Amino acid sequence: MATDYQTVIGLEAHVQLATKSKAFCADRNAFGGDPNRNISVISLGYPGTLPMLNEQQVRFAVKLGLALGCKINRRSTFDRKNYFYADLPKGYQITQDENPICLGGTLPLHLLPAPASTPGKRKAVQLHHIHMEEDAGKSIHAAGEPFTRVDLNRAGTPLLEIVTEPDLNSAAEVDAFMNGMRQLVRWLDVSDGNMQEGSLRCDVNVSVRPAGQTEYGTRCEIKNMNSMKFARQAVDYEVTRQIGLLEAGESVRQQTRQFDPASGTTSPLRDKEDAHDYRYFPDPDLPPVVLSEAFINEVRAEIGILPWQAYDQLIADYHLPADTARLLTADRATYQTFLRYADASPSVTDLATLWVNRIAPYLTDNRLDPEDLPLDPDQLARFQELILAGDVAASAATAKLLPDLLLTPGDPMKRAESLNLIQNTDTDFLATLVDEVIAANPGKVTAYRKGKKGLIGFFMGEVMKRSKGSAGPQETRELLVARLDG
Ligand code: ADP
Ligand code: MG
Repeated sequence: MATDYQTVIGLEAHVQLATKSKAFCADRNAFGGDPNRNISVISLGYPGTLPMLNEQQVRFAVKLGLALGCKINRRSTFDRKNYFYADLPKGYQITQDENPICLGGTLPLHLLPAPASTPGKRKAVQLHHIHMEEDAGKSIHAAGEPFTRVDLNRAGTPLLEIVTEPDLNSAAEVDAFMNGMRQLVRWLDVSDGNMQEGSLRCDVNVSVRPAGQTEYGTRCEIKNMNSMKFARQAVDYEVTRQIGLLEAGESVRQQTRQFDPASGTTSPLRDKEDAHDYRYFPDPDLPPVVLSEAFINEVRAEIGILPWQAYDQLIADYHLPADTARLLTADRATYQTFLRYADASPSVTDLATLWVNRIAPYLTDNRLDPEDLPLDPDQLARFQELILAGDVAASAATAKLLPDLLLTPGDPMKRAESLNLIQNTDTDFLATLVDEVIAANPGKVTAYRKGKKGLIGFFMGEVMKRSKGSAGPQETRELLVARLDG
């Protein structure tokens, strides 16, 4: 390649909000179900019907905006975006074009480091604005059917569109942005962030420019990505395609393109010149959204700690490795539950390791929420104390005692006793056994003293047998070595 190129990407991310009803009417807002059930004359766009704004949508918009450090517009307005399509019964989409509800802001990202335990690079992606709008219905083009099915359950679902500045520079950053956004909207309880169900999706604008050039290159927009794998593939394909054009002395045409998962390629949907004229104009049926300071403060008070703050806090307070902190702040329930257990724990570092290696996999395997962990914080703390005091060997504790306690919760000490896992570290008791073993094996003692040091394993085994497996290995070994070498 003759020139080095920089990739420039801006995203338009769409988040479906987890409100009970739709954006402008009382229809149920729910994914799936029988087609065309969650509809009414309003979502069907009957003449003479009037929309009424869902307050919860505004709350969620303000909540996300405040979390992202946006300026909240005290007065925002709705516009109509006009186009004709079968899944858009009104013939227009209600959106915010002129005065969106949030301006600016940033989403802080942790780019995945190598190795995963180190903190990795950070980047705060600049946002342009966030606006409220409504989703369209769904057109279903089934193979072999000479017609299109239309399901209007989704029509009127409240959406937030988060528009970034052209501030991303790779497929990996797109991935990190969408994952960060997913984590945040779930953390704030404003959306389930489910990409498979289309609750979170994005249009990806991609351009390239020769390194050092100040103007941006011409961009292409890839529509409607709802899989991160496909989004990464689409970006990589587009970057290669655009560089290829420039290297061949051609130019990139500004286009809207679609991604084909089967071939991993993008193809043009329409050129800029064919772009719709949406004839935006203010929606006469919806008054401006005017927010009071009190309302904004009320929403602000609901937010609490944000995921990236929680991550920094775990590292600062407990010196956890980055990948551990990341797992423990993956969602708010995990973070809050971990903190409750950490409060009671005699060693938070050990608890974090136990969580990553044992607790989190246990919860996943059993499809449990963190707060449904069968052991309470006090029980888990006493479990840890057994290990720290040397009463139960760490290996036996995690391999035998913990699984048993998770199956049938109870007092860790009593359970360790009934499972015969208590290590005896009492020096008088162990010394008696050591003396017995030495007295019973004079030949082996002589061999050991002549240099067959490997026999220590034999002596250990004999003491273990006499203690019925309870002898603390470290203490036993120390006593044996002292007696045999002394
Ligand atoms: P439009 O009004 O045509 O939708 P915008 O200026 O609103 O265009 O930008 C839409 C998205 O495209 C934004 O996310 C923005 O960051 C991104 N974008 C704009 N110019 C470029 C570019 N040259 N390369 C990559 N992305 C871009
Ligand atoms: Mg746009």
